[in-house]
Amino acid sequence: MTFQAFLIKYAEIGIKGKNRYIFEDALVKHIRRALKRVEGSFSVSKAMGRIYVNVESDYDYDEVMEALQCIFGIVWICPVVQIPDHGFEDLSKQVVEYIEQVYPERPKTFKVDSRRSRKNYPLNSQEMNRELGGIILDAFSDMKVDVHKPEMMLHIEVREKFINIYSKEIPGPGGMPIGTNGKAMLLLSGGIDSPVAGYMIAKRGVFLDATYFHAPPYTSERAKQKVVDLAKEVAKYSGPIRLHIVNFTDIQLYIYDKCPHEELTIIMRRYMMRIAEELAKRSGAMGLVTGESIGQVASQTMQSLAATNEVCTMPVFRPVIGFDKQEIVELAVKIGTYETSIQPFEDCCTIFVAKHPVTKPNINVIRSSEKKLEERIDAMVQEALDTTEVILCE
Ligand code: ATP
Ligand code: MG
Repeated sequence: MTFQAFLIKYAEIGIKGKNRYIFEDALVKHIRRALKRVEGSFSVSKAMGRIYVNVESDYDYDEVMEALQCIFGIVWICPVVQIPDHGFEDLSKQVVEYIEQVYPERPKTFKVDSRRSRKNYPLNSQEMNRELGGIILDAFSDMKVDVHKPEMMLHIEVREKFINIYSKEIPGPGGMPIGTNGKAMLLLSGGIDSPVAGYMIAKRGVFLDATYFHAPPYTSERAKQKVVDLAKEVAKYSGPIRLHIVNFTDIQLYIYDKCPHEELTIIMRRYMMRIAEELAKRSGAMGLVTGESIGQVASQTMQSLAATNEVCTMPVFRPVIGFDKQEIVELAVKIGTYETSIQPFEDCCTIFVAKHPVTKPNINVIRSSEKKLEERIDAMVQEALDTTEVILCE
């Protein structure tokens, strides 16, 4: 069956009044952007509180579906058969053909839901429901009407220029269109957790920038490329991500040299947060995002989280904080980042990690250890900021 259009349904809660236009316009923009990558010609339009994707050339159904299923704000995608109005008899034939083709396995129950935006159609909606219902019952002896919980809800819409037939609703990702809720800075490592964290925040309509702390030659070019690849994968959902690559080697070596090794991870993480926050401010982001989850590793105990959090003035969002590793893995698989995340490249945290890191850091102790860095650290942070490389990942 060829579908000539896709009806895009979105949740309307919380988008009344003025917000509705912002929401819809953003959604239209993101749909257009996503379809640019798909072969074929499409036009996207808003009509009567709905969004339609109209197909204007040959296209690949799966590719279109895949693109639309990455756009936050879309709750359902309905592939629509559009036919010209050649009278009710023709419509009846087309409806039977539609069911034959779209449902090789016939649904057991159905209901017809007809609407007319053109009131001069010879039948009213009630009559259409009744007539078409009868025709379906005649054509498919094993199908029955169920007005309460039909397996197939067949929508017939008589519009100005054509008639829409649709019944399939394919789930979109939900959430809100990117950019309708500001911008945040994601601390993106090569692990499993942070790409998932980015996805979750972006899903709420937040535009993302990202920061990766790279420690050459201890971390390789390949490890950096892996993070670029992950940013591109997250960008399928979030839209283009400006990935800031901070050279963190000198700072790490300096901390290693001056501070107790068991405090290394915490102090390093505090510098990561400080630098990411500065980059966030510069790019207009209003919060930081990490992939931390309570108790996952020594640096993610309550005490460690408190110690890392202490250096930030911006809110730090940790959307996977209460997830078990397995739950994060499942989401990573679902969104398509898992395979890249498990590629075996060293991470700057693991290289300098102490054998017995503190699990209950005392903030005062950490602060006094950081005093040992006073002489050079500010200049080094400045240098790291000045030499930050930005890669656009899309
Ligand atoms: P992930 O799987 O996301 O790497 P993790 O379990 O390895 O997480 P940590 O290494 O403790 O956990 O890192 C916690 C969080 O700190 C990460 O989720 C990420 O947000 C941030 N982070 C860690 N290392 C880096 C890095 N090299 N660059 C940017 N952010 C980092
Ligand atoms: Mg990590």
